[in-house]
Amino acid sequence: MYPLSLYIHIPFCLSKCAYCDFASYPGREGDWARYFGALWDEIDGWRPELGGYQVATAFFGGGTPTLVSAGYIAETLERCRAALPFAPDAEITIEGNPGTLSPEKLRAYRRAGIDRLSLGAQSFDDGLLRSLGRIHRAAQVGEAVRMARDAGFNNINLDLMYALPGQTMDQWRVALDAAVALGVEHLSAYSLIVEPGTPMAARVARGEAAVPDDDAVNAMQRLAVSRLADAGYARYEISNYAKPGFECRHNLVYWSRGEYLGLGCAAHSLLRETRFSNPASLEAYLSGERRLDVRRLTDAERMDETLMLATRTARGLDLVAWERDFGAPFAAGREGALRRLSDGGFIEINGGFLRLTLRGMEVQDAVVLELTEA
Ligand code: SF4
Repeated sequence: MYPLSLYIHIPFCLSKCAYCDFASYPGREGDWARYFGALWDEIDGWRPELGGYQVATAFFGGGTPTLVSAGYIAETLERCRAALPFAPDAEITIEGNPGTLSPEKLRAYRRAGIDRLSLGAQSFDDGLLRSLGRIHRAAQVGEAVRMARDAGFNNINLDLMYALPGQTMDQWRVALDAAVALGVEHLSAYSLIVEPGTPMAARVARGEAAVPDDDAVNAMQRLAVSRLADAGYARYEISNYAKPGFECRHNLVYWSRGEYLGLGCAAHSLLRETRFSNPASLEAYLSGERRLDVRRLTDAERMDETLMLATRTARGLDLVAWERDFGAPFAAGREGALRRLSDGGFIEINGGFLRLTLRGMEVQDAVVLELTEA
């Protein structure tokens, strides 16, 4: 059996956050039933093509998957299980907003077999949450974690954001400490990217909000690394930290270029070395458009992806696997770049792996570029 991961996109939200450029649609409650009907048809349609695969991980992302009735989520999982077998220890995650949870919903998720909850906490400062346009308040994060524990979740992630306009180092420290105090198993710490076309980008352009400079962003990242290490969380990817044994298996599949099937609007797939995606537009998805931009990857693209994704992780780039998969040692033709990066303290090579140092991770794009252009 080949391991397969499922990503299931639920594109509905209560309202649009100021920084969001994801495929998410507020105020579309009237389309929920139609959307899930289309999603279930898509799942059923895959059944004949997935012989030999077994689901190792599944992930409900969004949007806000916890906004819709839990019955939709449970039925979606049932359809997936009917389409292909799940490993007995499959990791099944649902992403949620702390403002959309209830004990009943959480118990229904557990009954459906969901064993991991990922909460978009983002900040523990109500002013910052308001400026981000989040629907929840800081106190609801702790409440959501307590409800989830009562419902039987023992694998909980909190997403946190830094580099927010107006965010001080103290506010970031408070957020990290508050997250640690809740005792969750996993933390993701993402730097805000101001995406063009969002209300946040307009505010920045008008001079009403200023994002911190690179030095401040790096200082916030370093604070996360040291604070979380002290609290027993290992940084296993640039933005992700876990207590031992609680690394997110689903995300590790992305970074190791494992196979995954994206279901629903805007979902991306990598299957049999071919990438494709569903339309980001809800209307296009509802009208039946599927599997767009189908592209079988060339060896050069596979190499670029492997380098770019593996160097995000603490495990690093497996040099033995590289030579086996691509027929030449990674160092061939890169001797100069490797020496420069190593002398500069950006990378280290040992035990057959190339890893980025703390400094290297701060400029991962540039390190990858130098290794690609070598
Ligand atoms: S909850 Fe997430 S997906 Fe929904 S609008 Fe906010 S950032 Fe976007």
